[in-house]
Amino acid sequence: MTDPVRDTLERLLARINAISAPGPGFTRPSYSPLESAAHGVVAEAAGRLGLDVGRDAALNLFARLKGRDRDAPALHVGSHLDTVPAGGAFDGAAGVAAAMALAALFVESGEPPPVDLVVTATRAEESVWFPVSYAGARAGLGRLRPDELAAPRADSGRSLADHLREEGGDPEAVLAGSGLPPATFLEFHIEQGPVLAAAGEAFALVTGVRGGLRYRAARIDGVWAHSGGAPRHLRADAVFALADLVTALDRHWGRVLDEGGDLAVTVGRVDAASPDHAFAKVPGRLDFCLDLRSDDAALLDAFDGVLRREIGAIEAARGVRVILGPASRSEPAPLSPALIDGLIRAAGGMPPRRMLSGGGHDAAAFAAAGWQAGMVFLRNWNGSHTPDEAMDLDDLAEAVRLVHAAFRDGQIAAPRARPI
Ligand SMILES: [Zn+2]
Repeated sequence: MTDPVRDTLERLLARINAISAPGPGFTRPSYSPLESAAHGVVAEAAGRLGLDVGRDAALNLFARLKGRDRDAPALHVGSHLDTVPAGGAFDGAAGVAAAMALAALFVESGEPPPVDLVVTATRAEESVWFPVSYAGARAGLGRLRPDELAAPRADSGRSLADHLREEGGDPEAVLAGSGLPPATFLEFHIEQGPVLAAAGEAFALVTGVRGGLRYRAARIDGVWAHSGGAPRHLRADAVFALADLVTALDRHWGRVLDEGGDLAVTVGRVDAASPDHAFAKVPGRLDFCLDLRSDDAALLDAFDGVLRREIGAIEAARGVRVILGPASRSEPAPLSPALIDGLIRAAGGMPPRRMLSGGGHDAAAFAAAGWQAGMVFLRNWNGSHTPDEAMDLDDLAEAVRLVHAAFRDGQIAAPRARPI
């Protein structure tokens, strides 16, 4: 007998990942024809399973399996299908495949879920394309701002509204829409870190998603000079200034961790490689970006203050100008303890660990919109956002079965909407 869970995971992932720009790895840009084609594959598979397939104005996909109580808020389960450039096979896609496997398990058992189960494939989760956090999910929740629809895509320079319209969506309706009413959202996703693989644990339950403060287009303006002719005290060297900044941020980061705070600091790009740079020149310009993450919004604000104070000191000492440029921000999102408790009860003897998510995920957007939101993290190997991303589909199948049991037995059913 075939196993509907393994079967669905394998087949759907193979079909989704057959859709990609040329390699290495997998590339499906946000609001591109490739992302649309991957959504088409999921819609077709959901239709064959007997689910009611629909899309909202932002082209998020919802495939509904009717539950016994049609009036109670639904359980949405899903993730995204876009990828970073040259990304992996599982970031996002594994979560959508898991949602479909969960639906397949209910269909196969002949027993409807307690409330509607909605397989959900969001759009535009990877903010590497548009400088907007959780664009598709927030559009579906009625929380996307007009200025965010004007954000340019990194590769094309054309706006989010343009690309959305081109794929068949309706930006005006997105802005006018009130969004989905709060229910429950559960996302399966690879951990994108080494913790679970190192511990030999198949999956974990996520307590919260870190927020982020990002400066994607920062730069340092110094003064070009001759490397032999310019004395040290008369230089305005952009590279030495960045070194000062990185060293200072690292020191403050260590202090925050020592004090028990949660923080990650990354200078993800340093570009001093323009044609103007040369062996015999004091560097006059340097471009960089900065990514700060924490589970504590106040800590992000405080660290931003530290950053600006250090910049002031470096400008005074080095004679350079540091221009941070526009900031983009996502707020930390605590996930639902009730959802975690329900899954832990269903797990019985050896409950999965609880852990924080370092990366941002759609579940955070649902939590911010007042949904009961949760995540299951799956162990993975070889990092993430790379073509080598790897996972064991048996881990995912085991997690799907746990959620199936918890949902079927009423441990994670959405709370009844309060009568008005
Ligand atoms: Zn993802």
